[in-house]
Amino acid sequence: MQVLKFGGTSVGSAANIERVGEILNQTQGTKVVVLSAMSGVTNLLVQIYEAVIYNKPEDVDNGIDAIRFKHFEAVNLLFSEANIASQVLLKLDDYLEELKAITVGDLRPSTYAEIVTLGESMSTYMISAYLNHAGLSNVLLDAKEFMYVGQVENPSIATVSEKLQPILVQNPSQIYITQGFVCRDEQGTVTTLKRGGSDFSATIIGAAVDASEVQIWTDIDGLHNNDPRYVDGTKPIDHLTYNEAAELAYFGAKILHPQTVAPVIDRDIPVWLKNTFEPQAHGTKISNEYHNRGLKAISAKDDITAIKIRSNRMLGAHGFLRTIFEVFDRHETSIDMITTSEVAISLTIDNAQNLQAIVTELSVIAEITVEQDHSIICIVGENLIEDQTSYKAFGLLNNLPVRMISYGGSNNNISLLVPTKEKVNALRYLNQQLFQLQEALA
Ligand code: ADP
Ligand code: ASP
Ligand code: MG
Repeated sequence: MQVLKFGGTSVGSAANIERVGEILNQTQGTKVVVLSAMSGVTNLLVQIYEAVIYNKPEDVDNGIDAIRFKHFEAVNLLFSEANIASQVLLKLDDYLEELKAITVGDLRPSTYAEIVTLGESMSTYMISAYLNHAGLSNVLLDAKEFMYVGQVENPSIATVSEKLQPILVQNPSQIYITQGFVCRDEQGTVTTLKRGGSDFSATIIGAAVDASEVQIWTDIDGLHNNDPRYVDGTKPIDHLTYNEAAELAYFGAKILHPQTVAPVIDRDIPVWLKNTFEPQAHGTKISNEYHNRGLKAISAKDDITAIKIRSNRMLGAHGFLRTIFEVFDRHETSIDMITTSEVAISLTIDNAQNLQAIVTELSVIAEITVEQDHSIICIVGENLIEDQTSYKAFGLLNNLPVRMISYGGSNNNISLLVPTKEKVNALRYLNQQLFQLQEALA
């Protein structure tokens, strides 16, 4: 069994959906196909949710019209027979009615998730119907029936497996289609795996069915050695270890949801990143194989807040760090980078939701300085620390506006904190200096 996930662009138009059909046609064996919403649709749904919150019914209706237009255009191109097309359109209209009803109903804790996951309900229904029509007979599975993940931070693969396996046995097929992104929490309430979460759906399902591999099909030929949105001349990486991919995903490589590799690491299920628009390109294979050590890639994560905690009570005292960490723990805020001196600690968080409460508590025991709008630049490669890259990286620091450094926490990462307005220049500079050096040494 394989799991194939297709992202928003890959299912973003009739022509692209036809490509998906070709790829599935050429893939042997039983497969679970995880689909995203058509590109742009989740953003529209988020805007609709915001329009509900701010009580702007006109914006809700405009958003629904835009979603209807996008799907109807695709359906009219995908289905040659008018009567089948109109049946599909009727069902899509039912989803839009459901959406409208949620927007005028009472607000519940699950309202956000119920709205934003409708994009996946619509895309999977439409694409399943298209594939059946095109001779690729398939079974459409409702992810809400089996994606009981418990805590999103630490999904229960056993629970998903227990729910999914019998469904597969009762509905034998070569191709199963299901929704990414949506899941249920411990109470059974509908929730999401956070933006970009269909990658994570694919590896959770891959682990639950003990897949031979997970393929993530997107709009680029693999994970590149730097962020292609900001840096020219980036190159795809053929092989990454799970650790390398996990660091890059966590530290901002948008091609992968931050938690994607977690469910498959221990089960040793390889993950391939492939390009829907260039299927013959190698792509990136993420596995436990070591191909070459040393520098692999650079990524950047935005919206980082740096907090400096200074207190003379730290000097020679024990227990101070524990007191500080407990504050963050109480406010369910995780820490990314940390550096300490005798009387001060600097640390970073990426979720500033509880910042005010954290600062208020910390201010009782220390002097606090907060700096927002920072980015973490992460230089990643297995055994980087023993490689010449680290020396070279430190030689470059003079020319970079670095606020904090983390080195040695693991063997495969050096993290630099810079103001976000300097991020793009820093990424370009590091790309030029570090990859040029590597090529010169090769
Ligand atoms: P999908 O909709 O298929 O999930 P995403 O937009 O989430 O696709 O991810 C693919 C995009 O990630 C690429 O188009 C690229 O712009 C961006 N990206 C950011 N960093 C990287 C990287 N290091 N390698 C490849 N792509 C990256
Ligand atoms: N459609 C969702 C999003 O845009 C999930 C995904 O595509 O991965 O965030
Ligand atoms: Mg994505």
